[in-house]
Amino acid sequence: MSKHAVVLEYKRCRGCTTCIKTCPTEAIRVRSGKAFILDDRCIDCGKCIRVCPHKAIKSVGDSLARLQEFDCCVALPEPALYGQFQNLDDINLVLNALLRIGFHRVYEVSRAAELLSDYNRQECLNAKDAAVPQISSSCPTVLRLIRMRYPRLIDHLTNAVMPMELAAILARREAAQATSLPPERIGVFAIVPCSAKATAARSPEVLKEPVLDGAFAIRDIYLRLLSPMRELCEEGVQLEPLISSGLTGVGWGVCGGETAARPGQQCVVVDGVENVIRMLGEIEDGRIPEAGFIELNACTQGCVGGCFTVENPYAARMRLGALMNRLPVSRNCFLFQGPDRNLAKFQRKITYTPAFLLDADRGAAMEKQLQIQDLENHLPGLHCGSCGAPSCHAFAEDVVMGRASVEDCIFRVRARMQHMAGPGEADEYLPAPFRRQQPPAAKGSEPSA
Ligand code: SF4
Ligand code: SF4
Repeated sequence: MSKHAVVLEYKRCRGCTTCIKTCPTEAIRVRSGKAFILDDRCIDCGKCIRVCPHKAIKSVGDSLARLQEFDCCVALPEPALYGQFQNLDDINLVLNALLRIGFHRVYEVSRAAELLSDYNRQECLNAKDAAVPQISSSCPTVLRLIRMRYPRLIDHLTNAVMPMELAAILARREAAQATSLPPERIGVFAIVPCSAKATAARSPEVLKEPVLDGAFAIRDIYLRLLSPMRELCEEGVQLEPLISSGLTGVGWGVCGGETAARPGQQCVVVDGVENVIRMLGEIEDGRIPEAGFIELNACTQGCVGGCFTVENPYAARMRLGALMNRLPVSRNCFLFQGPDRNLAKFQRKITYTPAFLLDADRGAAMEKQLQIQDLENHLPGLHCGSCGAPSCHAFAEDVVMGRASVEDCIFRVRARMQHMAGPGEADEYLPAPFRRQQPPAAKGSEPSA
């Protein structure tokens, strides 16, 4: 079973090929009229979900029925959730409503983010040997991208777990102390803005084992929260003061939030996966030597732009900004010492995942590379996508790697038809834009001078 939260519903797929060119890692192919995802190349960015006109690609979070499996359930709302509601002026309203839809406790991810802001500041002061620029490790899509395509940048990652992961560890500990339940009877669920975090919840990149019991999509929880939030307002009850973070933590919901806690450092903030890829290339080439820290967010405007959100990212950013204006700068500082300090650190070394490796044997890989180049030279270079691959290069690679037949290229078919039928007629087998010979213009249709 795939570890990814991005899945394809084959019945809905019409093989239209709209998705193949959108994928930043060229992970999608269409063969025999249906799309499929090359699992090892998918970074869960969610771009294909947005463009599929037939809603055949989707991202799945857990079902709320999972709350029945535990004696005590803790909600871990990501700060992006707060930006989804119009006219919200008190985050406590959202947190209290969570207690009305089946959760027993709440632990804000922004609280853990605030701890990490402080931790990063302390580490940054002490890390004399760290590779510069440092790259944020808070976006799981970026982590996967670096592991897959930019292994030389692995050492540049800040050695800190994601806020949702630290929140899960601390929330379980806090709930176990408060309820005296064994940790396994406590269900800890993140409310996440994107498919990448849903995948990270079940298959973490930097932890030895999962610390979350599941992840719900913001869009699913948002719908559930609307009624209890309205009821709480109508009842006029005193809201329980559950908010536990300031603007430093809540700010992590938008791009620039993580950087805000690094005053005095030259920082670059990037959003959008194409921009992230361009920036990683530039860092690798050493073209931004003056930067001390680079914050990379795969989604537009940061987590508020994730594929699980309901609002447009710009409006959500505006709302989060308005909420942050009412908050103190911070409510938490990182005071963990001794072994507890390790809670914030990667639990395992990040390694290169060679999804683009042609062969484990260097000589064989070189040989395949030459074959790909040779085949590509004999392809038209139109990147039309009718072979089901996003580019002629990807198609040549597919052929050499045994994932496609050279006969899947319609231009190769034309060449064969020409051989059999003679020049001219074979063009009729091609879609109109690719025919060399245009049909004779109808009489009287010439444009007038
Ligand atoms: S966009 Fe991709 S997944 Fe959606 S119908 Fe077209 S080929 Fe299938
Ligand atoms: S989620 Fe992103 S990386 Fe994965 S297949 Fe879709 S577009 Fe490609």
